Amino acid sequence: MYELTSRLSQHPVLCLSPHTDDLAYSMGGLIAAMHAKTSLSSVNVFCTSIWAPNIEAKGPETISSIRREEDLIFCGKYRITAAYWETPDSGCRGYDKVTELSTAPELDPVWPDVAHRIAGLLRTSMYHIIFAPLALGGHVDHQIVRDAILRSRLRRQLTVFYEDVPYCSRLNLMQIERIVSTYVPSAIPVRIAIDIDQKLEDMRLYFSQTRQEDLDAACIHAQRRGSPNGFSEQFWILEDSAA
Ligand SMILES: [Zn+2]
Repeated sequence: MYELTSRLSQHPVLCLSPHTDDLAYSMGGLIAAMHAKTSLSSVNVFCTSIWAPNIEAKGPETISSIRREEDLIFCGKYRITAAYWETPDSGCRGYDKVTELSTAPELDPVWPDVAHRIAGLLRTSMYHIIFAPLALGGHVDHQIVRDAILRSRLRRQLTVFYEDVPYCSRLNLMQIERIVSTYVPSAIPVRIAIDIDQKLEDMRLYFSQTRQEDLDAACIHAQRRGSPNGFSEQFWILEDSAA
């Protein structure tokens, strides 16, 4: 099995997050396990948001600020240096729950600008390892980040994709394999054992967002990726960057 954890302890890591909660949801177990041994930074791409199902607050300014505060608590806990781009998320761009999961990223008006900005970030980056969403479930914001990475990644950077919680729990493992073979056909799977209770506790830090169904989704997926008695997160490493 590819020694991802030893690579993480040797090089600075940049995690690209479509929304502020994606890292805790999709790779929070790995972050909790590895934060003391590596240097972590994040870029949150779509930070202007109106998505906060658990609270009464309204309007993009208030909600975006609450979401950022939640993320800063998570990042403070794990010493992650975070950056926030003001790009409006899918809800602010007029998508609904159906269209945000069924629209091709290149048809979205923000695609050229985000792709250009991510290309510039990678080109000037000192990071050796890049984490990005696989966009399981097809959320348009996640697809934009994934496709921008695939288009502009550098071979000297190890590129690792995470499985998107909660969306991935709506897919069976064969459907996930099919998406992997479409977008990252030669990627190497790597599983990391995680502390699921710690992960759920960290997901709850995003109190404006996290619903019981999200916690359940994280559990279901980590269980089917885990060993009989344990929980895991699975990652996909691009083969040509894995040497
Ligand atoms: Zn997201």
